[in-house]
Amino acid sequence: MVKLNTNENPYPPSPRVLEAIAGTADASVRLYPDPEAHALRARAARVYGVPADHIMAGNGSDELLALVLRATIDPGDRVAFPVPTYSLYETLVAVQGGAAVRVPFPDDFSLPPALAAARARVTFLCNPNSPSGTLVPLERVEALARALPGLLVVDEAYVDFACEHALGLVGRLPNVLVLRTLSKSFSLAGLRVGLAFGHPDLLAGLRAVKDSYNLSRLSQAAGEAALGDLPWMEANLARIKATRARLAAELERTGFRVPASEANFVLARQPGVDLGPVARALAARDILVRHFAVPGLEDALRITVGTDAEVDALLAALRDVARP
Ligand SMILES: *Cc1c(COP(=O)(O)O)cnc(C)c1O
Repeated sequence: MVKLNTNENPYPPSPRVLEAIAGTADASVRLYPDPEAHALRARAARVYGVPADHIMAGNGSDELLALVLRATIDPGDRVAFPVPTYSLYETLVAVQGGAAVRVPFPDDFSLPPALAAARARVTFLCNPNSPSGTLVPLERVEALARALPGLLVVDEAYVDFACEHALGLVGRLPNVLVLRTLSKSFSLAGLRVGLAFGHPDLLAGLRAVKDSYNLSRLSQAAGEAALGDLPWMEANLARIKATRARLAAELERTGFRVPASEANFVLARQPGVDLGPVARALAARDILVRHFAVPGLEDALRITVGTDAEVDALLAALRDVARP
């Protein structure tokens, strides 16, 4: 199976992660984990240059997204986000009884001005965005934060694959929360480690509605070890970015349009063509890519940047099944 549909890292995590898990998997697992994940947060504070009291750990950033809405939204409150984007926002707003305000991205996926005008209690910006892979420049993110009356959540799940990030806004702007995950760039999707960066008052609100023991002992140890081996992660980033450039160029040569990606996936489009049949034909050859049966996105495939061998297999199969 060539699995290029959920944006996992094709390379393994640092060997230090597996050592840390082995070193933690002993009789101490009868004890509850640290509810505040002190060691993990201290390591994150050193790595990111942000004080530990501005950092909170979550059971993946998906948990942190849920906590944000649990802490902030009463029934009917407005939650705005540009679309298309990460589909979990929609689900979480519905669970909380909020009112989703969906602001369409323009064709070039630049920041839509109507997002600030929505004046929502919470605004989500997935940056780089999924499924487009595009990045809103930092100066535009800062201007958005300053223009908003409510909270801006910058979901930076893919930002290690990009050229800039919004962590510098944390501490300067009290209404900005930046979310990171170790699932993508650090290859830890199976262990569920996310980080929230924001003003301590914001984090206190999230902590008040979280499960006490939200991160297992093994996850905390693994996250700390992963953050302790940046060169490993950076070597994988370099490989993925090189493969991304090759994949995008080859897809364009095969007749697809590919917006410039700052993530570990690309969006391949054939305007006006439903690519559902192409996705199914690839699946029949054991190659999984993501097709969205969503109005306006039927003509696109989101393809995770795998290993060079996986990408070669995909490109060879695409030349057979796609008719540009
Ligand atoms: C993968 C992803 C997440 C979730 O990350 P986890 O830490 O694995 O929960 C959050 N936001 C976006 C946009 C993602 O793609």
